[in-house]
Amino acid sequence: TNKEFFVSWEEFHRATRELALRQLPADQWKGIIAVTRGGLVPAGILARELNIRYIDTVCISSYDHDSQRELKVLKGAETSDGEGFLVVDDLVDTGETAKAIREMFPKAKFVTVYAKPQGSPLVDEYVADVEQDTWIQFPWDMQLNYIAPIAESEA
Ligand code: 5GP
Repeated sequence: TNKEFFVSWEEFHRATRELALRQLPADQWKGIIAVTRGGLVPAGILARELNIRYIDTVCISSYDHDSQRELKVLKGAETSDGEGFLVVDDLVDTGETAKAIREMFPKAKFVTVYAKPQGSPLVDEYVADVEQDTWIQFPWDMQLNYIAPIAESEA
């Protein structure tokens, strides 16, 4: 990973709203499944835009083990095959997570906000392309020192 791509809250909000505009209206969905943790923020935005109130999570942890990546499902979702569900993550990179998601929920629609070329064929829809050798910095991972402190109330 050579380059960094910084995403602001506003940019992320706009891109996720764009993703929402491309989805079927609310009554077509049983609910949203957020892939933790990256899918949590986009799931909230999609749920609001599409007026969906049923939100489930699939909790996946990923760690490197002898230079091999291992994915561990810490918690599944309530649906068995994902039919009628919109599964969302922040991005797809190698597509390893996407493959696991597809196996778990073969009938769901899997969407991400960003996609790198290696993983993009594995998602049903995404908004923005990012080069493979780029690390995306999301606002929730950044330090807060760029935000002005909240003004103290006047005494
Ligand atoms: P994949 O399984 O497609 O290789 O990667 C999926 C997960 O890895 C993402 O959900 C995210 O948690 C993490 N990841 C991969 N690339 C990036 C990146 O460029 N930026 C950030 N913030 N996370 C990444």
